[in-house]
Amino acid sequence: MQAVVYRGVNDLRVESVPVPRISASELLVRVAVCGVCPTDIKKIHHGTVPPPRIFGHETAGTIVKLGARVRGFRIGDRVALHHHIPCLNCHACRHRAFAQCPQYKRTGITAGFEPAGGGYAEYVRVMDFCLPGVVKIPTKNSFLEGAMLEPVNTVLKGVNRLTVLPGDFVLVAGQGPIGLLFTQLLALRGLKVIATDLLDTRLKLARHFGAARALRADLPDLPDQIARLTRSRGLDAAVIAVPADAAMQQALSLVRGAGQVLLFAHTKRGAVAPLDLSLICTDEKDLIGSYSADVTLQPTVARLVFSRQLDVRPLITHRFPLAETAAAVALAAKPQPDSLKVVVEQAV
Ligand SMILES: [Zn+2]
Ligand SMILES: [Zn+2]
Repeated sequence: MQAVVYRGVNDLRVESVPVPRISASELLVRVAVCGVCPTDIKKIHHGTVPPPRIFGHETAGTIVKLGARVRGFRIGDRVALHHHIPCLNCHACRHRAFAQCPQYKRTGITAGFEPAGGGYAEYVRVMDFCLPGVVKIPTKNSFLEGAMLEPVNTVLKGVNRLTVLPGDFVLVAGQGPIGLLFTQLLALRGLKVIATDLLDTRLKLARHFGAARALRADLPDLPDQIARLTRSRGLDAAVIAVPADAAMQQALSLVRGAGQVLLFAHTKRGAVAPLDLSLICTDEKDLIGSYSADVTLQPTVARLVFSRQLDVRPLITHRFPLAETAAAVALAAKPQPDSLKVVVEQAV
């Protein structure tokens, strides 16, 4: 089969590799769509993991083979996959810190080499421990929608970390695909979202997705505008969906006492930023983070996406064939005014 193999920093090659073999408790899925995710881009650009690997973990496709011991699925089922599954049993899992579970850190979907998702290939093998994360895609929904379950899951997990009440003001800094999902989910929860970005096209979409205000992030009077909107009370929470320290610093000053600032894009190890610690201690502001997904949220995520209560379709702006995965990754890494979610799509 064809696969796009990561051979080193910025080196993705289309290669011919064997179709993965499966055991009696595993699935073989023919990939239809795989989203390009910033975490993969980071690994490809910075070489943070050793090659060779086949990346791509926001995967939807069709079951073409299943092991004799697999129950609940059939050949031909259209499914969305989930590559990280916690054991639900360890110390981390008992604290619901699923992303810190040792089993969770193992990737259970592969197209060959060290398992890394495998979605940039024609077929993937789904290991037994990942079966609880496999979701069937309803007939009326597309593979594109199925491939969005994973990013939506990570965003819902982040939203659930906020202790906000309906009517509260939440800033979402950055309206890329993830920021726009935050805007949409928070608006669905009855929160007043103030969305910021530097691209007008994205601000327009933020309004479409229910933002109460969509403002340019570089407005000099942004703090005044937020003070007016919140009647000088300040923001109740802020989500930082861009890896910008200035956005975090500004948000920490704009949230009210005992408000929260959630970091969602600061995934680079070793990044340091100065912080007035009295904001945390005296003003009781919480600086928190959220990373990756929570498989226990998957039924809720599937309902939200497949009912189109949360409509992910306008977010997918660019589709590339498998052979052009490198171009898809390049576009997702350097977004254009008209680009949001970039996916790799294969004829099925
Ligand atoms: Zn992802
Ligand atoms: Zn665990």
